[in-house]
Amino acid sequence: MKLFTSTLLAAVAVGALTFGSAAWADGKPTVGIAMPTKTSERWIDDGNNIVKQLQAKGYQTDLQYADDDIPTQRAQVENMVTKGDKVLVIAAIDGTTLTEALHEAAAKGVKIISYDRLIRNSPDVDYYATFDNFKVGVLQAQSIESALGLKDGKGPFNIELFGGSPDDNNAFFFYNGAMSELQPYIDSGKLVVQSKQMGMDKVGTLRWDGSVAQSRMDNLLSAFYTGKHVDAVLSPYDGLSRGILSSLKSAGYGSGGVKLPIVTGQDCEVASVKSIIASEQYSSIYKDTRDLAKVTVGMVDAVLSGSKPEINDTKTYDNGKKVVPSYLLTPVLVSADNWQKILVDGGYYKLDQLK
Ligand code: BGC
Repeated sequence: MKLFTSTLLAAVAVGALTFGSAAWADGKPTVGIAMPTKTSERWIDDGNNIVKQLQAKGYQTDLQYADDDIPTQRAQVENMVTKGDKVLVIAAIDGTTLTEALHEAAAKGVKIISYDRLIRNSPDVDYYATFDNFKVGVLQAQSIESALGLKDGKGPFNIELFGGSPDDNNAFFFYNGAMSELQPYIDSGKLVVQSKQMGMDKVGTLRWDGSVAQSRMDNLLSAFYTGKHVDAVLSPYDGLSRGILSSLKSAGYGSGGVKLPIVTGQDCEVASVKSIIASEQYSSIYKDTRDLAKVTVGMVDAVLSGSKPEINDTKTYDNGKKVVPSYLLTPVLVSADNWQKILVDGGYYKLDQLK
């Protein structure tokens, strides 16, 4: 019996060693990174930054983009689990569609980090790395507030509202953050939504698609702005802002003495920074994806070494199944006043990229 026990223990020990050495044979384990799309620059930067920083720490990486197609992303995530990736970093297309895939992952001990966008309806999300998404909306609205002089009592002004993709949890945070600032002016009559289209169910833009925003703006202008001027457009993302600006320009804004409205944005995409420099788009939001990658890589390191990652928010992000421990970074408003200091001096872009 004693002999049996020690043989068994030895076998278990050898097994553990074999498993350990197999899993770590080529250095540290593989981290799967599931990104939504390459149509927006930020996700390309996010993917590259995470890979670079993980590889610098000796991890293998498995980076996948899903062309904004939900079944493709689900299949990519399932594949990562089948291949034996040990941690998954996921920026979901639709935050509600990965529940089953993550259940399988968790059953195999795979750790899940929700990246930038909260994965909803899953108890298997371990951590969330993102920016203060409510603050993004607040900053967008504050740029409208100061550009129009609302605080000084100016107005009334006409405004139209655009929201992000309703399947992205962030879109609600952006919209609610913005409305926390704008609603009082709407209530007092200093801001007027001529279309009366308000609320994410009316102003959301599926898949953050710029052409959808462009045609909605076309419709708003022809239905509600004959003989009226739109003074501000809340737009949550640069790709939408550019569609909105194209629509406005086709309708004669920006020429012949007709002023373009104040148009907000997010991500500081190159084309939109150029537009800010050219006094077309008014503002954008800078989110340093290098910092987000750093926080995420810190989380990966911690979960793989069995320690606790650094988090700074344990209240805000309830995904319907749990409040996911989060790390929130601070977004920064960029406009004609500070783009050079923030984006060029900060090393995010080179000056000649923006010319
Ligand atoms: C991100 C934004 C981005 C948007 C569209 C959101 O989830 O937080 O930075 O503008 O998706 O890609």
